Amino acid sequence: AIAIAPDVDTLDWSKGDGLLPAVVQDAATLRVLMLGYMDRAAFAETLRRGEVTFFSRSKNRLWTKGEQSGHTLELVSMEADCDADTLLVLATPRGPTCHLQRPSCFPTAPAGVLAELDALIETRERERPEGSYTTRLFDGGVRRIAQKVGEEGVETALAALVQTDEELLGEGADLLYHLIVLLRARGLSLADVERVLTARGG
Ligand code: AMP
Ligand code: ZN
Ligand code: ZN
Ligand code: ZN
Repeated sequence: AIAIAPDVDTLDWSKGDGLLPAVVQDAATLRVLMLGYMDRAAFAETLRRGEVTFFSRSKNRLWTKGEQSGHTLELVSMEADCDADTLLVLATPRGPTCHLQRPSCFPTAPAGVLAELDALIETRERERPEGSYTTRLFDGGVRRIAQKVGEEGVETALAALVQTDEELLGEGADLLYHLIVLLRARGLSLADVERVLTARGG
């Protein structure tokens, strides 16, 4: 896939010895993963390979993240900031980004909880691990999952009327989880719902 990126000559390479800082975010969860530096060659190589490539200041050479570990960052898009001296890179991580085996180099970098759940449910659908409740839901088919969403919707509504905050929050969590499974069973994702909400937001 051809990634969206600014033209190399619109970027301001003059400030940092030909290097631009590049903030990398997980395209699915928006978690900040790491910060690296790109020179013109790293920028071009990132586009050519479709894998995020930096100029490593310690190695003093081009460094494609994951070249040894296999934990690459598959490019989704790049964008320049307002004065074109910093890059925001959206990527899909193939494994933990940090060499300490954590998803992000920033130990507590937050990610959207629902987006993470969406990604987890997608993995469950693909892998269908035995003994998983989500696997059983997918095996039951859209009709069964839709029925569960209906039940959880009713339970949430009732909880709002006659139960404690704690019980309402629990039912809300059940409802969101089953809704994501239902969307996934129809080949859709929470991100698709978010696009509808964004379009409505104007
Ligand atoms: P990798 O690019 O994942 O194959 O890792 C190659 C080498 O780059 C590792 O031995 C680490 O020293 C270094 N490294 C890997 N990931 C990071 C990272 N997120 N930030 C800084 N250095 C890293
Ligand atoms: Zn700037
Ligand atoms: Zn790290
Ligand atoms: Zn429930």
